[in-house]
Amino acid sequence: MNIRVRQGDSFWYYSQLFHVPLPLIIDANESVNPSALQVDQVVRIPGYYIDFYRIQPGDTFWSISTRLGFNFDMLQLVNPTLNPLSLQIGQRINVPVRVQGPIVHGKRDYDYAALQHDIRQLIEIYPFIKSRVIGHSVMGKEIIELQIGQGDKKVHMNGSFHAHEWITTPILMQTINDYLLALTNRLPIRGLQMEPYFQSVTLSIVPMVNPDGVDLVVNGAPDEEPYRSEVLAINNGNTEFSGWKANIRGVDLNNQYPALWEKEAARKPQQPAPRDFPGFSPLTEPEAIAMAELTRESQFDCVLAYHTQGKVFFWGFEGSEPPEAAAKATEFAKVSGYRPVQYVDSYAGYKDWFIQEWQKPGFTMELGRGVNPLPISQFDEIYQENLGIFLASLYT
Ligand SMILES: [Zn+2]
Repeated sequence: MNIRVRQGDSFWYYSQLFHVPLPLIIDANESVNPSALQVDQVVRIPGYYIDFYRIQPGDTFWSISTRLGFNFDMLQLVNPTLNPLSLQIGQRINVPVRVQGPIVHGKRDYDYAALQHDIRQLIEIYPFIKSRVIGHSVMGKEIIELQIGQGDKKVHMNGSFHAHEWITTPILMQTINDYLLALTNRLPIRGLQMEPYFQSVTLSIVPMVNPDGVDLVVNGAPDEEPYRSEVLAINNGNTEFSGWKANIRGVDLNNQYPALWEKEAARKPQQPAPRDFPGFSPLTEPEAIAMAELTRESQFDCVLAYHTQGKVFFWGFEGSEPPEAAAKATEFAKVSGYRPVQYVDSYAGYKDWFIQEWQKPGFTMELGRGVNPLPISQFDEIYQENLGIFLASLYT
């Protein structure tokens, strides 16, 4: 919510008044100099929105704020032009409301529109989130990166490289919503306070690498040409796309990386297909290129690429993984019950390339167990398993 600065106000005072950690307020107002606040300047307060209240007989600012459970001065701040001594019955005033629960409800069919909607809502309530477009899909959809935190340690997570593994997107979105809520309201998650991680970690999340593919699986073939005709042709005219893994033009985005790509390409489909075709050469697809460029410029310390399924994760590549990857793998296994696997007969994946290029810890997490796309009924179980991994990625 937005408020206007008064004479004598400070970010520190807002932090005390609204019970919101000071670093979040500073980060939510990057264009504002905290030590030179100007009267009437607009400041964003995370974790609140403005609602309305109609004055009843006998109401005063005091009685309203006591009844609604917040400080008297909060009412003054959100009603700057109102004289508290001349309230009229029936008059509409602003009241600040603290967001106490999740905004993202991930346990549902979750397409690109759902993602966009939830990102807008999260940024509205938690304006310290940084959001940017890192590229566009084949069909021109924005591929969005969210950043949370100010720390030197850079942890990256991504979801839905594979279309029919789209449940990874709402899992990530609901997890970061819980992180944002815990940060802002100073609530522990599994006994851990989150504020230290906001200071020590910069979290980068690309919740949906393959939006065209996800929409294809969730909603069916697009109306737009030539994509509709092309995708139907690749699928042999079949209008059922629930098993589709690739991007909209039949390239498997997680087979696109120059990490023994030729070895993978030799044994995979040689032309566009619903799954496994690695492209005619590495990094031909805009979604894969966007992720490569983001990764090159960001210099992540650790990456987690979310897939389904198997309750297993992969953490090595050709001996290039550093010693600390083993320690992280042990912790991830402990908190999730998932089985760590160092090497697997698979190449040209995002995490393979990341480990090869930077010799830093990279993981492919295979959430849940069953046939892709996993039924949404697994959501709560996967969520709990992954929450441990999420926390461990911050503290290990
Ligand atoms: Zn996958």
